Amino acid sequence: MSKKIISIVISAYNEESNIAELYKELNINTKQNKDIGPKYQFEYVFVNDGSNDDTLRKLKQQQKQDSDIRIVSLKRNFGHEIAMTAGMDHALGDAVIFMDADLQHPPAYIPKMVDLWASGAEIVLSHRTENLDTSYIYKFSALLFYKILNWLSDTKIPAKSPDFRLLDRRYVDFLKGFNEHDRLFRGLLSWIMPTDKVKTIDFVAPKRFSGKSKYNVFKSFTLAIDSIIQFSVRPLRLATYLGLLGAFVSIILGAYVIIEYYIIQHRTPGYATIMVTMSFLGSVILLALGIIGEYIGKIHMEVKKRPLYMADYIVSPSETLYLNGRRKRRKT
Ligand code: UDP
Ligand code: MG
Repeated sequence: MSKKIISIVISAYNEESNIAELYKELNINTKQNKDIGPKYQFEYVFVNDGSNDDTLRKLKQQQKQDSDIRIVSLKRNFGHEIAMTAGMDHALGDAVIFMDADLQHPPAYIPKMVDLWASGAEIVLSHRTENLDTSYIYKFSALLFYKILNWLSDTKIPAKSPDFRLLDRRYVDFLKGFNEHDRLFRGLLSWIMPTDKVKTIDFVAPKRFSGKSKYNVFKSFTLAIDSIIQFSVRPLRLATYLGLLGAFVSIILGAYVIIEYYIIQHRTPGYATIMVTMSFLGSVILLALGIIGEYIGKIHMEVKKRPLYMADYIVSPSETLYLNGRRKRRKT
């Protein structure tokens, strides 16, 4: 019987200084590992997410020495989630392991993940007990984000559960059926779960081996808003409640003005009240419109059904296939 294949999918954006070390660590923990090495066949699917440094050249160098490497090279930077999707689309394995290129997802945990899969788990998630690369402010904002997201959304996404995971082929094929452009893998997975065959490993994320994080405050904030919109329509409901609250406050205010005028017989000069009321109502209306606008914007982007990415698929140093993302127009 032929050996089962395990794919390792890694997305890299400007990670030139990490590739060599990552490849070394991968080998030690897969092919050269005495337990899992002989049992399985391994393939490495590297996704170059439109890097503008030497990442692609470094990957090609490695590929010349190792025929188990395949490179999906995206034509521009499409973002981490799309890069992982492209990697997943091209992975052939019976199980697929996703990880970052900066060694914050230590390859040393691969054998444990594979063992859990071999003993029946269909999804192996990771739980990051500590991240040695982030500040307290970042940790606090991330925690706050997950609290808000989980409060707003029916799909509960655990905090500290990064994109370091193993998926059985069955789940990979299932995830390939999700066609949305805006996607958060951990959310899509939570949408499927809970299932009975999930196992979780704890790990400590070390500092990045080299280079800088690709996420700044602004990018993380945008990602946070996008994620909330993807998994919840509750903000729309909140806008309605806010409108109702505004109307209620206005009625009370109106009643008070009438009582003040006819019963207390006191006339407050109107300017202050009018200004406060107007700016209050103005803000409520703008906020509600903004929330609705965010959703309409997302619909606008999604209905075009554009392909998810455009890529060169470098199977071997001498063979490149030209592939476009896998989104198909629905036939009418
Ligand atoms: N990444 C990517 N495309 C991007 C941004 C990041 O493929 O547009 C990759 C990056 O190369 C790394 C992983 O996603 O392998 C995680 O990124 P990073 O380490 O910057 O994020 P952090 O660990 O700081 O959250
Ligand atoms: Mg990182």
